[in-house]
Formats: sequence, C-alpha cells, structure tokens
Amino acid sequence: MPLKYKSIISQMTLVEKASLLSGEDFWHSRKIERLNVPAMALADGPHGLRKQASEGDHLGLVKGVAATCFPTSATMANSWDIAICEEVGKALGKEAVYNEVNIILGPGLNIKRSPLCGRNFEYYSEDPYQAGKIAAAFTRGIQSEGVGACLKHFAANNQEYLRMTNDSIVDERTLHEIYLTGFEIAVKEGKPKAVMSSYNKVNGTYSHEHRYLLRELLVDNWGFDGMVVSDWGGSNDAVESVKAGAHLEMPSTGYDSVHQIVDAVKIGYLEESVLDERVDEFLKVLYETEIKRQTELDFDVNHRLAQKAVEASIILLKNKSLLPLKPETEVAIIGDFADVPRYQGSGSSMVNPYKLDSTLELMAQSGLNIIGYAQGYDRVGKGDHEKLEAAVKLAQKAKVAVVYIGLNEIDEVEGQDRSHLKISTCQIELLAAISKVAKTVAVISGGSVIEMPWETHCDAIVHGYLTGQAGAQAIFNVLNGSVNPSGKLSETYPICYEDVPNIKYYPGNEKTSEYRDGIYVGYRYYDKVDQKVQYPFGFGLSYTHFEYSNLVVTRDGVKFNLKNIGALAGAEVSQLYIGKEQESIYRAKKELKGFKKVFLEPGETTVVEIPFDAYSFRYYDVNESTFQVERGLYRIEIGSSSRDIKLCDEIEIAGIIPVKDDSKALEAYFRGNITEIDSSTFQALYGDVVPSATWDKTQPLGLNDSLAQMVYAKSFLARFAINRLIGMRNKSVKKGNPDLNLFFLSNMPFRAIAKMSNGMISIAMTKNILDIVNGHFFKGLGGLVRSFISYRKRGLN
Ligand code: BGC
Repeated sequence: MPLKYKSIISQMTLVEKASLLSGEDFWHSRKIERLNVPAMALADGPHGLRKQASEGDHLGLVKGVAATCFPTSATMANSWDIAICEEVGKALGKEAVYNEVNIILGPGLNIKRSPLCGRNFEYYSEDPYQAGKIAAAFTRGIQSEGVGACLKHFAANNQEYLRMTNDSIVDERTLHEIYLTGFEIAVKEGKPKAVMSSYNKVNGTYSHEHRYLLRELLVDNWGFDGMVVSDWGGSNDAVESVKAGAHLEMPSTGYDSVHQIVDAVKIGYLEESVLDERVDEFLKVLYETEIKRQTELDFDVNHRLAQKAVEASIILLKNKSLLPLKPETEVAIIGDFADVPRYQGSGSSMVNPYKLDSTLELMAQSGLNIIGYAQGYDRVGKGDHEKLEAAVKLAQKAKVAVVYIGLNEIDEVEGQDRSHLKISTCQIELLAAISKVAKTVAVISGGSVIEMPWETHCDAIVHGYLTGQAGAQAIFNVLNGSVNPSGKLSETYPICYEDVPNIKYYPGNEKTSEYRDGIYVGYRYYDKVDQKVQYPFGFGLSYTHFEYSNLVVTRDGVKFNLKNIGALAGAEVSQLYIGKEQESIYRAKKELKGFKKVFLEPGETTVVEIPFDAYSFRYYDVNESTFQVERGLYRIEIGSSSRDIKLCDEIEIAGIIPVKDDSKALEAYFRGNITEIDSSTFQALYGDVVPSATWDKTQPLGLNDSLAQMVYAKSFLARFAINRLIGMRNKSVKKGNPDLNLFFLSNMPFRAIAKMSNGMISIAMTKNILDIVNGHFFKGLGGLVRSFISYRKRGLN
C-alpha cells in the first residue's frame, strides 16, 4: 500500500519516526516541531471525559477537568437502546473536542465472564452480540464529532487479578465466538479510529505484540484502518509490537523504545518500510482527529441527556403492584446511598462530575409525598443500632419506605476483583426491619451482579446500576411514574455465587487464567443446564404489558406484532434468540442474535422487524479456522427476556456439515457440565499443551514477572518492601478507601517501572533493580549508577 503521508515521512529521521510510536507524557504522543507534526491527546474514558489538566495518572487519583458523568457502561447497556447510546457517544465526542482531546479511551467492551470482575461496571454485557452493538453505537456517536473512539481492552481481558502479567488460555472457538465477536461487530459497524490492546497475554503472546489479533484479524479480516495503542504500561517489546501491527506505546516509555526500534532497523531485524507503514497509519489517525478548538459547551444540555440516558436504563426487577407511587402516598426515604450517591466506579474511568444531583436536595421536586429521611446504616463498618431504629421509626410513620442500598465503593474498583456478591449485612438487616413496618421499595446502586436473598423483604425493586451524575431525579421519576421503566438486564443474576459456572477457574492462577468454562458464559450456561436463576439475562419489568403475536420468519429475518395492552405508554426490548439442536458440534441452547427497543402508546400495535445478519447462524470452525454455518433446522425465538419466550418458529438454513467434535473427549461441553473440567478435558478443548499455571519460585525474577512475586524473592529487602506494600493495600481496603496506586503497583510487572516512569528509569536500570531483588545487591547498585549515566548521556539519539 502506498503511504498516505509519504511526503512528511520521507523528511523524518529514523529517530523521529520511532519517537512517534511512544508517548511524550501520560496523555500525549510526541510531536515533531521541525515538521509541524502535533501531539495526539488521549483521555479516558467510557462514560465521561477524564482529562487531567495537571499531573497525570491512569487510576483516577488526580481529578480531571469537570465533565459530564454519564451513566456507566454497565448501566447504558441496560437501555438496549442504540439511539440513546449513540446520542451519549456524540455528547462525549463534544466534550472531547471542547477539551482538545483527539482520542477518547472507550468504549470498553470486555465480556463479563464472571460477576466478580472488578471492572464489570465499565463493561456492557455477558453477551458479545449485545456488547458489540452498543460499543458500535457509542463509537459512531463519539466519532461523529471528529474525535476518535478507542475500543478496549483487546482481548480476553476479563479479570483484574494480576491483570498485567496474566496469560488468558482460551480455546480458539471460545475466543472467537465469545471474546472477539463483540470487537468484530464494533469494528465493522463503528469503524473506530483506535483499539487499545489489553495488558494480558492471549494464549502465550502479549496482546500488544499479537500479530494474529492485531493484523490478521483486526486489519485483514475486519477491515480496521486505525491505530493500536497499548494499555498504560502494558507494552512489552517495542520492536515486536511494531512488527505485529501495534502503533503507540503509552504512557511515556522514555527513550528505550525509540532506541530499540532504531537499533532494530539498523541491524536489519525490523524493515524500515514496516516502521514507515506504522508511522503512516498513526499519522492518518492523528490528522483525521485533528482538533478544531470549540470554546463553548452546554453542560446543562449534557446533564439533561445524562438523565434521559439513565431513565432509559433503570430496571424494574420486582413490583407487587406497588409502583408507581401515588402522589399522596406517604414516603420515607431511607439509606446512606440517598445521601451520598454511588454513581460511578473507581479507577481510570472516574469522572469529575461538573454537577451531581442529590436525592436529598431534590426531595421537594420528587413528585412524591416524602415525610423524611433516615440514614439507616453506616456505609463502611458494622451495623449501627441507633441508625436502624431511627429508620424504622420513620418508616412506621409512612406508608411506603424507599430504601437506598447497594455495593460500596470498595466493591467496584479497577485493579481488584470482588471476592463475593453480597451487599453488606447492615443493609440487609435494615431491609428486614423496615419491611415489617411498611411497604418496602429497594433502590439499588451498583454496577455489577449481586446476590439477592433479601429480595423477599421487598415489595418492589428498582435497579439503577451506576446512574452517573443525573441519577437522583431519574430514580424519583421511575418511582412517581413519570418515567415507565424499560431497562433490561445485560447479565444474569444467579441465586448465589456458588451457581456461577466458573468459580473454580476464576480469576485464574499465578501465571494463567484457564477459560475452562469455554463458550458457557452467563445465560449460555444457565440455560444449557436449566439452572434456576434470580433474574435472567434480558429481564426487566414495566408499568405496562406487551402482547406478542404473528411471528413471520423469512430468509431475511423475523417480523412480529407487538401491542401495548396496558394503560400506560412504555417501551419494550424484544430479543431474538437463535438455537439449534447439537449434532456435530456442541452448542449453547440459544444465543442472542438481535434486539429492538420500541416505544408504544397504550393500545398501540406495531410491526417489529429484526433482520438476520452475518452473526445469526454462524459458529467458529476450528478445523478451518473460520466462521461457518452449519446446515439444518434452527429454532427462532422471540423473547421479552432470555427466559420469557413469547413466540417461536423454525427455519431450515443451508450450510456445511461440520467435522464432528470429539464427543467423547468433549462430553462435558456437549452436556454443559463445565463446572469441574479436569486438565485433560481442557487440553482436549484447547487443542494444545496447557502451559504451567504457577510461578517457578526457583527462578530469579525477570522483567515480565510481577512485583507481587517479590514475596519469594532472594533479597530480604525486596520481600520486606512487597509485604509492606501488600499490608498498606489491605489496610486501605479495610478502611473502605481503596488505594488504587497500591493495587496497581502490586500487580505490575518489573518492566512497567521503566515503561511508566516518563524516562526517569530505563530498562537497563530496571534490570539492575532486578539484580538487587534477586539478591545481588552490590552488582545491582553499581549497575544502577552506570546505567543511569549512560542512559542520560545517550538521550534520544
Ligand atoms: C486502564 C485503561 C485506561 C488507562 C489510562 C489503564 O489502567 O486499564 O482502561 O484507559 O489506564 O487511564
């Protein structure tokens, strides 16, 4: 391919070319002033802009500029509303332009493989089709303003535990069907300018140097023509990355990467034409997203949009004919979350909201007859009897108690997975006590799955997820009926954590995370084994009712009638599921292959059409290493949730007869009994030798080992340092105030010391530090001084 920016590139020195492929500081690429090549500005993130004006960090520690905090991704997915997601994306794009940012580091669309993943609040769904469609909508919206979106984290990044060193071991079919399909949809339909590679390895290779993922799939197969940026501190070998198709290493790797690329070209290991190609591709994104300063932004418009977005996403989980509340009904507002809202999670996505609605401050305009507020419990720590008593007293005076409960701050944090799915006991005790004296409505805050054994205490349950800055009024509007809830779950709520299929394999071991659960993620598992669940995927109630009829299935798709048969206007998310009896290959019972959200006035009927597409009937054929369609009869189901199928038909589809799966070796996968997969069965599925899962403690520590491994280091000093760090980390968790820096540090590989120190520490110096860690104190110390001097002396040349 001829270079688009040949005339500029031909004027660049080798060093200048190489310098464009790593960051200048935390948020910018390097510029080349001599040639008027500007820096590219990047900023988080998925649900609002996090641009740091002063000091930079990637964990949300230093506040960003004030920006609109939209509902988090997990919340937006519950809207199942492509139009509103695109609209919010557009608003994010506008805020990026206003803040002179080229690339927004989002959307994030990793699959919710386990409800424990600490970043689930930042992701969309347990289903790749839904995640891909929503990410595509966000991408289109963001990019309609001329800035770039960045899909992240590519790929198979589904846990926080040891996230920077972990190796995701996942069989080819699962990888393609579950963990890559969402990215494929988002790339093809959203055409993002950027993709962020993930920290982890995928089947033994770092994502940022995974040629198959970055080139063969992303570019050659899916038609991606943007740039690949590393996650912050996630890159490994600069030269291998360039060869594999990656572009920008972030944040600021100092001079090392530049030297390595230049030296590789000089010795002929890296062809200069390949470097030119990467620079050309990078420049394309830089110039296509060039910022034209916009001096005005109406934050109030975006605040209203944030409210509209959350109103489209709130889920009504239970309603024993209590909601909506009548204007005269006496209501008590109870619970600490009503005072101090939880509206987003912690970490790199954390927005500094320009305005934050408060439930207590908005009580007067709630449309409800509120008689008072009581805190009920302490957010952090044990139950408080006095607070509980005061809340019960207040509830006694009211007809209905609205109790705000949810996950605490510590439960949803980048860098740490959860260890259980419970809300705190004091909140449950409060619900139990309140339900004895008043009708009880629970309002939940929290961006990921929770166990709900306390559900029986509630007459109604409203789940707001993490609402963003404009949640307070939106919740009131659902309670008072001015908004008819229409959100539906994008993940299954199991009855208890023990029902989750991959508890034995999640979050993996010291070195690897084995995806023994295969394709059976979320409803694909629960449906397969007919497991009872608390709330199924796709579930959500409304204040009205819908009637489905007249399903017509053709080669092109499905058509059916949807009628609002209740007394209130409302919206319904109709879901298309497709299934096939397993013959040659093992299969989930059904898979989501389409959805549509439709708003209907009372009595109104519409014809809903959902077309089939390239994803409808395909499966990944590991023998041919491509997607294929199996010939045969397919079940077409239209549901109001994955467990509430309203209409059903069949269609005969032409295709191939697949090579039979080894049904003996893979029997467990045919039956879906995947909770106890042994090593040999997993090996049969994986199709290769499964690498060792544990650290080899006899070996000295190396650049790619994590700081956490210092617990068994030779040096007493190193062991002391890591134990102290872990101690401090645990203390911060106990206090309910997680120190994300400590989470990050303990999971970080040694090489990231160099990759993230803005040129202060080089790779050579990091190797000297490793000498000290490995017990060679004086060798390391002497080397450190020498490396420091030679690094400074060489500079960028
Ligand atoms: C996160 C990314 C984020 C980056 C920059 C990393 O720690 O994994 O999602 O975009 O930091 O803040």
